[in-house]
Amino acid sequence: LMDAAGGYYQNLGDTTQKIAFNPDFLHQVGVSREILDADIFISLPKFKTHGLTVMTGAIKNSYGILPGAQKARLHQIAGTPKRFHDVIVEVFRLRIPDLFIMDAVVGMEGNGPASPELREIGLVLAADNAVALDGVVARMMGLDPGRLRFLQTAKTLGLGDYDSQMIEIHGEMPILNDFKLPPLGGEAISGNQAIQELMQTKTQVRPQADPGLCTACESCVEHCPVSALTMKDNIPVADTDICITCFCCQEICPEKAMALS
Ligand code: SF4
Ligand code: SF4
Repeated sequence: LMDAAGGYYQNLGDTTQKIAFNPDFLHQVGVSREILDADIFISLPKFKTHGLTVMTGAIKNSYGILPGAQKARLHQIAGTPKRFHDVIVEVFRLRIPDLFIMDAVVGMEGNGPASPELREIGLVLAADNAVALDGVVARMMGLDPGRLRFLQTAKTLGLGDYDSQMIEIHGEMPILNDFKLPPLGGEAISGNQAIQELMQTKTQVRPQADPGLCTACESCVEHCPVSALTMKDNIPVADTDICITCFCCQEICPEKAMALS
């Protein structure tokens, strides 16, 4: 990636500027100055699933404009998956990108954001509106975008529309047959009252290592931002009172041994 960027690489975490945030979560956040000063901001999301938000895409990609540990801190402050959906929209609207180009050449399905299940899609999707693009991605995954809370919130805030009549599509929009959602993805949006209530608690998902795959390398333990993991009998175990369900351990595991259950 560094070679491809040539002399144009910029570390987005080098300098930040404090700006006002939604006080329900934090009064201020530090945003990458490179992003705030840019004349044009192009976001490059990936077509993939995510256990906490069902899918990740144009809106959630902007979570990366917060350098460093703030991302984990906001996860912690949000506390529940429902509030985390609202946080990602709040971060997104700090500086709305001008253009979105999504890599859907090879997408990810199943237990994202670090699932080994890849899906050949063969498309690059581009849009100037994130809500419309994420609405299209949701439909391609077989989801009703209106059931995803972060999209409902973004639409309510006037950031765009996911209704198909409001989106002009140039090119193809294939619906991916039997696309695999994250373990709770289908139920989380199905309107099942019990599952909806579970989504509002801190107990929805927790990391759990598969003893058959885990090599006890302790990478997850070292990288957990809140030190929620300890090794017990050569397997990392999460303290559910401390874990903020940030998914870092799942993303970092080289063996894909960490699942969320
Ligand atoms: S145990 Fe995993 S999901 Fe929980 S806080 Fe640590 S890195 Fe994040
Ligand atoms: S990073 Fe993966 S393989 Fe290493 S200890 Fe954690 S779960 Fe096991």
